[in-house]
This record gives sequence, C-alpha cells and structure tokens, in this order.
Amino acid sequence: MTRLAICPGSFDPVTYGHLDIIQRGAKVFDQVTVAVFNNQSKAPLFDVNERVSLLEEVTKHLDNVSIDSCDDLLMEYAEEKNAQAIIRGLRAVSDFEYEMQITSMNRKLNAKIETFFMMTNNQYSFLSSSIVKEVAKYRANISDLVPPPVEEALKEKYRG
Ligand code: ADP
Repeated sequence: MTRLAICPGSFDPVTYGHLDIIQRGAKVFDQVTVAVFNNQSKAPLFDVNERVSLLEEVTKHLDNVSIDSCDDLLMEYAEEKNAQAIIRGLRAVSDFEYEMQITSMNRKLNAKIETFFMMTNNQYSFLSSSIVKEVAKYRANISDLVPPPVEEALKEKYRG
C-alpha cells in the first residue's frame, strides 16, 4: 500500500520553512501531495496558479512530491485522494492552539486520517510567508528565506 500524506496550506508564497517540512515529510511517506488552499479571507498576494507553479519549481528535485490545489474541505479532499495522513508544521507555541482546534475538528470529520506535526527546523522558526512579504516590500535581502524563483517572483510583484 502506498502511504500518501497531504501537506495543506496557503503557501503565499512558499518559503524555505515550508520546503523543509515538505522534504522531511517526503522521507517518511511514499508520496506527499502539497495542497494549495484558496483561502479568500486571507487576500493572497499570489493567485492559486502562481502559488502552484512556484511550488512545482522548487520541489522538482523531489520525485515523490506533487502539487495540487483545492477548494474543498481538507478532510473531504484527503479522503478522495485516499490519503493516510495530514502533515502540518509547528513553529512556536502560538501555532499550537490553532492547530489543536483544527485537528480536533478534522478528527471529528474523519477519524481515519491522522494529523502529524513536525517541529520546525530551528533556523526557520521565525519564518512565515507574511514576514517574507513584509520584508520583500522594502526590497530587503530575502535570499536565505525563500528559494531563488520565489525571490524573483516577489521582486516582480513589488516592482515599481
Ligand atoms: P496556513 O494558512 O494553512 O497556515 P501556511 O502556508 O502558512 O498555511 O503554512 C502551511 C504549513 O506550513 C503549516 O502547517 C505551517 O505551520 C507550516 N509552516 C509554515 N512556515 C513554517 C516554518 N517556518 N517552519 C515550519 N513549518 C512551517
């Protein structure tokens, strides 16, 4: 049986923190699908197609990782894909409370699919897409926060 994990998120845009979680997840599961969620309430900087393209580019060296987008409820999507697990990253205690709520709700919706949490790599514990966007706006150096194609895409967004 192929063990599939879904790595859900906004990825607006993908950072080295995300990539670290994806890569580590891909070592444990046979297949990892990164699912880009279209959360309109977050007013994303990059549209879903742009976020998917950037993820495809920065994960192309990972044979067992694929990228998808999703408008449905996560647990319905995961069931449809026959996934065994959801992978989420944890940075700080502040992530914990929110993740506990979501995970309890997800378990209520579908108890067959487990959620696994991976602790951030220490060097990325303060890294988020929001911080990256904030810094990129002021044209500061973000080369150690995001992969080169993402750096380029951000420069393009904030040009002019
Ligand atoms: P969401 O809007 O669902 O929180 P994000 O794109 O912000 O989506 O994050 C997707 C996943 O990646 C989440 O599980 C989040 O905790 C994790 N993540 C984001 N940044 C980091 C980081 N620097 N280190 C570890 N995990 C991270």
